[in-house]
Formats: sequence, C-alpha cells, structure tokens
Amino acid sequence: MNTIIEPFKIKSVEPINFTTREYRERAIREAFYNLFLLKADDVLIDFLTDSGTAAMSSKQWAAIMDGDESYAGSRSFFRFEEVIKELTGFKHIIPTHQGRAAEKILFTVVGGLGKVIPNNTHFDTTRANVEFSGSEAVDLPVAVALDTEKRADFKGNMDLDKLEALIKKTGRENIPLCFLTVTNNSVGGQPVSMSNIRRTKALLNKYDIPLFIDACRFAENAFFIKLREPEYRDRSVRDIAHEMFSYADGCTMSAKKDALVNIGGFLALNDSGLAEKARSLLIMTEGFPTYGGLAGRDLDAIAQGLTEVLDEDYLKYRIRSVEYFGDKLEKAGVPVLVPTGGHAVFLDAHRFLPDIPPENFPGQALSVQLYLEGGIRSVEIGSVMFGKEVDGKFFGAQLELVRLAIPRRVYTQSHIDFAAEVVIEVFRKRNSIPGYKITYEPPFLRHFTAHFEALPIGGRY
Ligand SMILES: *Cc1c(COP(=O)(O)O)cnc(C)c1O
Repeated sequence: MNTIIEPFKIKSVEPINFTTREYRERAIREAFYNLFLLKADDVLIDFLTDSGTAAMSSKQWAAIMDGDESYAGSRSFFRFEEVIKELTGFKHIIPTHQGRAAEKILFTVVGGLGKVIPNNTHFDTTRANVEFSGSEAVDLPVAVALDTEKRADFKGNMDLDKLEALIKKTGRENIPLCFLTVTNNSVGGQPVSMSNIRRTKALLNKYDIPLFIDACRFAENAFFIKLREPEYRDRSVRDIAHEMFSYADGCTMSAKKDALVNIGGFLALNDSGLAEKARSLLIMTEGFPTYGGLAGRDLDAIAQGLTEVLDEDYLKYRIRSVEYFGDKLEKAGVPVLVPTGGHAVFLDAHRFLPDIPPENFPGQALSVQLYLEGGIRSVEIGSVMFGKEVDGKFFGAQLELVRLAIPRRVYTQSHIDFAAEVVIEVFRKRNSIPGYKITYEPPFLRHFTAHFEALPIGGRY
C-alpha cells in the first residue's frame, strides 16, 4: 500500500466558511490587501502559520480536564517537568507562556551591549530579543540555504567555517552562547543534521562556549535525521531527539509547534546559576516557577503533546503530507523551494512573478491572489517583511517567498489537493497579477499592519 493516511480519525469538527469571489474581493480590499488584517472567518483554508494552530488529541483534552490549577507545586507542573527532563536531559525546566518569553528571559540574563549571538538562522522573535538586549544577532546558514532550486538533505545546517571565523574575530568572551534552530524555520523549515549538531558542539567546546537549541520543531528535525542520515535509519526518533539534546547545554521552545498545543513554551538548561537568574525574572514577568505564564491544564496538554509528537506514524504522515503538497506543485511547474521542509511549502515568488520587481512586492501580490482565487491565506516572507528604504533607495529581501504553513493534524488530504489546485490555477493566470505599493506602514514590523494598493497590471511604483 502506497497511500500514507492520516494516523487519526476525527471526533470533533469545526466548519469552515465558503465565500464567493465577489465577497473575497471586498474582504481583501477592506483589509487593505494585507492578509493579517482579514477576519479568520473569511478564510477557507488558513496556512498563515503552523504556530498554535494544531488540533489537540482526545488524550490532550482529557489532560486539560485533569489539569491542577494550584498556584504552587501543581501536579501538572511535575508531569510537564518529568516529560521534558526525560526528553532533553536538562536539569532545570522553566515554563513560559510562549517561546519568545523564554528568549526574552534568556537574553536578558546572558545578552547585553557588545555581545554577539551566532545562530544558523535567528527566527524573527529570537533576533528581536537578542537585539533588544543590546547584543548582535548573527546568522550563519550554509550557502546552499539561499538557493531555492538546489536540493540538499540538510539545508538548515550551520556554516562551521563562518562560525569559527566569527568566534576568532569577536573573541570567545563576547559570545555568551551559540544557538542552533531546528528545523531552520527562516530558510524554509530545513533540517539540521546530527553530524552538524555534533560538529557545532565540538567547535564550541574548543572555545568553551555553550550551545543552546531553539527546539520548536525538534521532532520534525529528528525525523528528517532518521530519513536522511544513513547511520540513524534504524534508531527511534525518541532516541535521535535524545542525542540531539545531549550536545546542548539548554534550549528554548515554543510549545505551539512540536508540543501540539495552542499556547505555551519553556526554557530548559543545565547551568544552576543561570537558572536561578532566569527564575527571578520569570516571577516578575511570567509567574511562579511551577506555572510560568501558563494554566496548570496547559502544562498537562504540553506534556501529553510532547509524548505524541514522537510517534513515528504521526511524523511520517506529517513530513509526507507537506512533501505531497510540494510535489504536486512542482510537477505542475510551480516554482517552489526544494526540498520541502517540515512545516510548510514555500513558493518562490521571484520566479513565479518575474515581471514584478521587489519594490512592488511579488510575494504580497501572490499571497493576495491565492486568497482571491480560493480563500487561501498564506504569508509573504520577502520584501514586505525584510525590505527597506534608505534615503529613497529600495533594498529588497534576499528571497521573495510565500509560505503555506501547514497546521498540525488540522487539514486532510482533500484540503491539500484543493489548495494545490488553487495555486496551480493562480500560476496559470500569472500574467494578469498586479504588483502592489505600500500606502501606510508603521515604524516596526510593518508586515503585520501595513496597507497596500494594487498597481495597474505591468505598472510600476
Ligand atoms: C515560533 C518560533 C519562535 C517563537 O515562539 P512563540 O511561541 O511564537 O513566541 C522561536 N523560534 C522559532 C524557530 C519559531 O518558529
């Protein structure tokens, strides 16, 4: 049997809303052509993000009911702590309300002016928290990560030559720790190999620099290692995850990804002095150390989710369903980033709409069109998000991407088939898609709230 089926059946359903093209034209106009400003009820299939959008299992809902809401010493905390200690091997487990809260606390403790934090690629909240502390965030992805047409097994890897050069230039004393993001979200959800993790640790050991893992998608990464690194073929994913964490001194995690819950996160680490400082900050900003920013029931749901996510039937379905979507598009000639990563399919808007220059936002143009055509919401990761204008001169992003992030356990194969048809139809009509100009933008993180206006087809700003 070749078909890989969803490894679950559905006990509770949530209707989605069908709209007409006319309705969507009005809705997107009223949202100023910014998909973040749409009402979610006006979206048919929501690929905006895989964060906090997972469907929980019946066992997780049962765990929610069983949550212990005691202010201190809650039973739910001890279950949460036990599961994460077993998974990661770290000594101190500190719950937070999201991944970014863990980052904020960690970089408040270790960051500061003049410090440098290397990472294969910082996720945007990680970068923001590093920079807010006064430190510099440096991305060191391998070169192949920037080539959307080139297939490679581990495009998420850290460039070790660049890491060593950075350490020599900056001085060990100015690098409080090094990060490794698994999978590497910002370059397309691409995995990091075990050999890269091991060699990163060995290099850091030479300079006595701790390694931290941004573990949001650790299980997807572990499964890719099993699939693509021959010596791990016969190892269990749990075992692979253990080994990944064994090379690190701590981690931050957004439970909204691979813990299969809608809210939550944690900081985990071995250094007791650091943990004590982190807990003091936690009490000020998140809550008492046995609940962080969470309800007891959330801690229980996370503990259960972290157990379920290592189920290899789940991971096989998860990775394959993203790949299936990417394959369908690739076969139809749609330019996608290859190979597909763990949590999303990325369209290459630069190749999709070659006539729209970066200053007219090809990624935005494409994501608006996917909504108009089929009610699909995606997110632009290109010059709207990263481009800027300095002294009247426009600087575009390195890549013009549109991300279709797949929520965990939410959509079935027919939803994906439909979405692929929509993308292919938009590709067929690609010569009649307008570029955009920005009519309003806030001073920071403009992609969330900017307003746009369509240009005439073939028009320029
Ligand atoms: C989502 C994410 C974060 C931040 O987590 P939040 O829970 O959204 O605060 C950090 N790093 C990576 C790689 C992420 O994908």
